[in-house]
This record gives sequence, C-alpha cells and structure tokens, in this order.
Amino acid sequence: MAETALITGAGQGIGEAIALRLAKDGFNIAVNDLREAAAVAGKCRALGVKAECFPADVSDYGACEGMVKEVKERFGSIDVLVNNAGITRDGLAVRMSEADYDLVIRVNQKSVFNMMKLAGAVMMRQKGGRIISVSSVAGVHGNAGQLNYSASKAAIIGMTMTMAKELGSRGVTVNAVAPGFIQTPMTDALTEEQKAAILSQIAMKRYGQVEEIAGVVSFLAGSDSSYVTGQTIEISGGLSM
Ligand code: NAP
Repeated sequence: MAETALITGAGQGIGEAIALRLAKDGFNIAVNDLREAAAVAGKCRALGVKAECFPADVSDYGACEGMVKEVKERFGSIDVLVNNAGITRDGLAVRMSEADYDLVIRVNQKSVFNMMKLAGAVMMRQKGGRIISVSSVAGVHGNAGQLNYSASKAAIIGMTMTMAKELGSRGVTVNAVAPGFIQTPMTDALTEEQKAAILSQIAMKRYGQVEEIAGVVSFLAGSDSSYVTGQTIEISGGLSM
C-alpha cells in the first residue's frame, strides 16, 4: 500500500510544491489548508496518487484532532507529516501589537505542537514515520521586523530536536528545513532597491525556487535520509555565512 503524506498549508506556495513533489515520489497526499484546496488535490491525482482535501485551522487543537482522525480513517496511515502552514505579521518590536505577536505564535508554533503530538502518536503506534517542519532563516539568525515570526521559527528548531529524541526509538525521524528568500508573490512585491540589498547577502545571488524547498523535503521524507534526525537544513543559497 502506498504511504500517506499530510501537508499543512498546502493550498499554495511552498506547501503546494511539497504536495506535488511528494505525489511525484508516489505518496498519497492529504492536502490541508484553511480552505478547500481542490486544485492542488486535483494536480496530485493527475500524478497518479490518491489525494483529498482536509480543510482545517491547524492553530486549533480540536480541528487538528478531527483532521488526523479523518486522514487515518480515509488513508489507513500517516507516514509523513509536513508542518508548512505559516503566516507573518511584521513590524518593529516596539510597535508590534500583542495581538499580532500572539497570532503568529499560535499559527506558526502552537500548530506544530498540535500536529507533532497528534500525528506523532499515530506514527509511534505504526513504529515509523517522518515529521518535517518548515522553519526559516529568521529563526536561525533573527530578522529585524520579525520578533514574533523569528520566535515561532526558532521554537520549531527546538521542538524538532525534542521530538527527535522522544520518537527516535520508535523509528520516527523528525527534521526541519529553514528556507531563506524564496521567490513568491511576497518577494516579487519588493522594490528593486530592496531586492538588490537582499541579493547582495546571498552567496548564489538569486532567490530560491519553491521546488528547491520541496526537493529537500522529499529527501527527508524518503529512505535516503533514514539516519538523519533532529536536524534543521538551511536552504538559503548561502545566506549569512
Ligand atoms: P503562503 O504562500 O502564504 O502559503 C501558506 C499557506 O498556509 C496558505 O495557503 C495559507 O492559507 C495556509 N495557512 C495559513 N494559516 C493557516 C492555518 N491556520 N491553518 C491551515 N493553513 C493555514 O506562504 P509560503 O511562502 O508558501 O510559506 C510556507 C511556509 O514556508 C511558511 O511556514 C513560511 O513561514 C515558510 N517560509 C517561507 C519563506 C518564503 O520566502 N516564502 C521563507 C522562509 C520560510 P490562506 O492563503 O488561505 O491564508
């Protein structure tokens, strides 16, 4: 039976690219997003695998509980979890509202607790699985204007090491990726001056593509990474070295 990958926030962007790559790798795909991401599920099915949508707010523990139960019932197992859903509410710390701090922590960090706990329990019982979370270079190096976001992304790195220690003896590996500047509508909207300033700090002098994140996630989900756990792989074209 084909293995199942559940990807959060897979309706667009990096999450969509991860869903399509893991479908190409032969995984059945459970597509989570806030909304019904029918187009992404359709593209996965066109690659010859089973794919269904599981709309849910991953910052809500009860919604995650329902989703994990439903995915397990409809697909039979959860072999790979990719914690990708994330948001930004940027602003300098002295001007950041408490509401924007709390929201980013809830969506980016608490969601990872919800999903690591719930899917981790399924994987423990299965005696195998892969958990991969999307952190950020902002969580490794910090980034002005992103106190909330960098806190949430740094937390993911600590949570990854802790879960790797807790689940290692059960055959579950737990890793993270830390993307740098990836070409998305967000980076397209920057001014030429801002783009030049960013590119000057990147050894490879270009933005990353979403497929380049998906490729590393594919490695962490596959058999070639069977002895890799507790690690955060930076995918940044050599930023801040
Ligand atoms: P994106 O285009 O905004 O996609 C994020 C997806 O997550 C959206 O489909 C969004 O749905 C969904 N989502 C938001 N809140 C959710 C929730 N509570 N429950 C379920 N789904 C939710 O972002 P992206 O650029 O692809 O980023 C994906 C991940 O990579 C994020 O964790 C981000 O922090 C990280 N990252 C991105 C970059 C970059 O350069 N883009 C760099 C480093 C790290 P809606 O659209 O309906 O809100």
